[in-house]
Amino acid sequence: MQKLQGKAVCRGIVMGPVSVLRKEEQQVKRRRITDADAEILRFTESVEQSKLQLVELYDKAVMQAGESGAAIFEVHRMMLEDEDYLDAIHSMIRTEMVNAEYAAAVTGDNFSEMFAGMDDAYMKARAADVKDISERLVRNLKGEIETGLLYREPSVIVADDLSPSETIQMEKENILGFVTVHGSTNSHTAILARMMNIPALIGVQVDLEQLHTGMTALVDAFSEEVIFEPSEEMRKKAEEKIRGEQEKLLMLQSLKGQQNITSDGHKIDIYANIGSVSDVGYVLENDAGGIGLFRSEFLYLGRNDFPTEEEQFLAYRQVLQTMAGKKVVIRTLDIGADKKVDYFGLENEANPAMGYRAIRICLKRPDIFKTQLRALWRAAVYGNLSVMYPMITSVEEVENIRAVTEEIKGDLDREGIPYQVPEQGIMIETPAAVMVSDELAELVDFFSIGTNDLTQYTLAIDRQNEQIEEFYNPHHKGILRMIRMVVDNAHKAGKWVGICGELGADTELTETFIRMGVDELSVAPAMVLKVRKKVRPCKALD
Ligand code: PEP
Ligand code: MG
Repeated sequence: MQKLQGKAVCRGIVMGPVSVLRKEEQQVKRRRITDADAEILRFTESVEQSKLQLVELYDKAVMQAGESGAAIFEVHRMMLEDEDYLDAIHSMIRTEMVNAEYAAAVTGDNFSEMFAGMDDAYMKARAADVKDISERLVRNLKGEIETGLLYREPSVIVADDLSPSETIQMEKENILGFVTVHGSTNSHTAILARMMNIPALIGVQVDLEQLHTGMTALVDAFSEEVIFEPSEEMRKKAEEKIRGEQEKLLMLQSLKGQQNITSDGHKIDIYANIGSVSDVGYVLENDAGGIGLFRSEFLYLGRNDFPTEEEQFLAYRQVLQTMAGKKVVIRTLDIGADKKVDYFGLENEANPAMGYRAIRICLKRPDIFKTQLRALWRAAVYGNLSVMYPMITSVEEVENIRAVTEEIKGDLDREGIPYQVPEQGIMIETPAAVMVSDELAELVDFFSIGTNDLTQYTLAIDRQNEQIEEFYNPHHKGILRMIRMVVDNAHKAGKWVGICGELGADTELTETFIRMGVDELSVAPAMVLKVRKKVRPCKALD
């Protein structure tokens, strides 16, 4: 038995088998060999094994994401038949008399560099693919298991740290809980855990080497502790607590179908935040009135190439159709900072949170932006869509966005493609946007306040930095005054205003927000009924 403390980023209690995610950089050592034929045979076997895995992955992905989502695995399988690539590895094994792992890794790096240096965007994107297949070959040569295949049964994932793209690729049904050594409460990985309602602890000083897959972990994110190999007595107590929590959840169910109306008759909308099409199930299950933030950038993570207009259109249409006329606010691409994607070819930055991200990328790379906007405008025909733009700092940016949306409108008209212009708003998540919110309100249909970034930029605290978490205080008077100012400016211009940052779900502030006049709160699906419970006894006026 080992008991360790951590910090809860999503409350809950679970018990189940451990899956340890080890992801040290693949260490590939150069080794001299004596029999080149035997080494090439070993290599050929790993190629065959890799092809079989890719067929299996393709079949699985077709079921989860359709043919277009699965296509990448077919591309990878075909790359394993590319003669130039295979010849380069064979030749290195023979001429340098080195092990197959080394030859595959070096050739993978060389080909990847070559693709990355090409002008053609399609070829550029192949750089990540060739690296992926080389890593697969090396893994198979070393007899290692692929991380994605570990979670064949529901498990508690224990890792050093998790990136948003790793988290989004996991099969949600097979994750009971998360325990990580590092991480911060306000990172997107923590937000994802809350969106999926998966109990999660960060900052747990566990030695991963001491753990092995199959051990039992009891994650109590209420008391903020994890127990590995709990005693019989601890298990019994935990089971009781789990039953108690389930009963509380059942009681919340009675709020389904009820209105979000205060005791003095003021109504507020409670919507849900999602990151993928499959999250819509949680939105409906928790009786949210709509979707207040669909972080569309998650469609871009965990893949090797840009999603096409058609893929995006189908995803957005599916969400709109499933929500059947309820409001769906889709935020345009907010890539950058902690949400990294290799195929965007972004440089490493010293201050990524203050760097090249979100609308800055979209305005500088209109090809990417227009593809997304076309998909959104086309999907708008199928439901009640609102589109919002992240990381706005100025009136000029909104004007530049408008110029792009006018262009795509003209294009769609010319091409005779059906579309509808959605309601359009912006996120208020920079102090600059707050200060010019009076002018911005004249230009847009609504505001949604992103308190996660607004706190980061106002208090000058990197939301990713676990060392300074104690200073990250979204209850700071400065933040609350800003929210009030934004609400007042929106209302003066007759526009609605919501909060979609994590603060929207903070029930200590629900009454404050209602009194300020906030029109909508968009929260993790599992928080919808809890916030509703808080709203009903509140008073909007004294
Ligand atoms: C925010 O900044 O509050 C927000 C909702 O956006 P994200 O957390 O995705 O940056
Ligand atoms: Mg933000």
